[in-house]
Amino acid sequence: MRFDFLQSHAWQVSLGRFVILLASAFGVGLIWHVQLYTVLAALFGYSLWSLVSLYQIQSWLHSRQRRPPPEDRGVWSDISAHVYTRLRTERSRKRRLIALLRAFREGAAALPDGVIVLTRGRSIVWFNEAAAALLGLSAPRDRRAHIDAFLPAPAREWITREPAQEPLRDAASARDASQHLSFRLIPYSHEHMLLVVRDVTPLARLEQVRRDFVANVSHELRTPLTVLHGYLEMLEPETAPQLAPIIADLRGQSRRMTQIVEDLLTLSRLEAQQQPADERVPMRALLATLKREADGLSQSRHHISLVRTCEQDLLGSIDYLHSAFSNLISNAVRYTPAGGSIEISWMPMPGNGARFAVTDTGVGIPAEHLPRISERFYRVSTSRSRETGGTGLGLSIVKHVLQRHQARLEIESKAGVGSKFCGVFASERLLPPPGLDETS
Ligand code: ADP
Repeated sequence: MRFDFLQSHAWQVSLGRFVILLASAFGVGLIWHVQLYTVLAALFGYSLWSLVSLYQIQSWLHSRQRRPPPEDRGVWSDISAHVYTRLRTERSRKRRLIALLRAFREGAAALPDGVIVLTRGRSIVWFNEAAAALLGLSAPRDRRAHIDAFLPAPAREWITREPAQEPLRDAASARDASQHLSFRLIPYSHEHMLLVVRDVTPLARLEQVRRDFVANVSHELRTPLTVLHGYLEMLEPETAPQLAPIIADLRGQSRRMTQIVEDLLTLSRLEAQQQPADERVPMRALLATLKREADGLSQSRHHISLVRTCEQDLLGSIDYLHSAFSNLISNAVRYTPAGGSIEISWMPMPGNGARFAVTDTGVGIPAEHLPRISERFYRVSTSRSRETGGTGLGLSIVKHVLQRHQARLEIESKAGVGSKFCGVFASERLLPPPGLDETS
């Protein structure tokens, strides 16, 4: 047994008092020869005193006002002093935490963006004033309500997808169609997620102004360009042979400008949010047309093959998909030196869905250019693009068309080895060939 406690001052005092009490009781008892009774009486008194001390400490612990603990109760006072110090530390820590929490809540409440704390089941736990204004929430009525009821339709569909998803950049508000909102979902614990809602109306307006400007400029340029092109076609180089190279150059440049304007108009139409009506895109016929076009562009300079192992058709816009696929093929022809091979394929994906791919053995793209390659007017080599009649808008059009069809553009390329451009379509975009039942 260890006697470390004897080193404590409180214990020394308590034990000292106890021994003195017993000794005094014994001494007093000796005078009348009643030592046993006096010692028992002293023990009884000591127990009573201990019980009273215990009671005082218990009522001190229970009392709401935190006055200092009762003193002069020996070991009991020592224990209560310890408890008192702990309680004071706990209380000041709690006060600091509450102040911090309040500061955080006030900060979150003052944020210009709507912030909503959701459970994993999408019940509302807390929201700030901006969220209330943006989504029409009201406290305390809507606490514990399901968030879906307050979201516009696209956001309702978006929020049910994978939790760590891409933000929803633009959705018209359910309460006011002229208001544009962006949504971002941040899962931050096993139980909670943060939904951040932002009013992006000014940005959407600016974007609209930019789109309108590009569309209008392109449209306005179309007529003068057609006139110029017409006159240039009428000029006969034979009548002024010394001007022949200039006329040829002018014709080439005017064709390029016309192509740029046409591509810009296509991009504007694609961005104009008008979803073209979905129709069956017969892949067998489309692939045959694409192969014919590739042969025409290549003029037998390449070996072009067609592989079709997917029997399914696509659901989408024939015109847009045709334009996107031809862009990929035209790129493959333009960036593959004579003698190279080009493969056009339509194949099922291992999971589900299908993939349209154009693979070439051309110049390839150095890895550092790949992240930006589908940006407007981004080119690896501007001179090569121009020489081959490129506008720098082809891959932008491809990306937009694929986005329109909820498909993604995948690019694998190695400089000097070749490239593979794929449009990957989800199974929802596939149709069984005509004549086959959907379920077969
Ligand atoms: P461009 O009209 O210049 O071809 P695109 O948007 O179609 O514009 O392509 C952007 C750039 O990507 C091209 O300038 C070229 O550098 C590169 N590129 C596109 N396709 C291929 C390919 N099949 N092989 C090599 N480089 C390519």
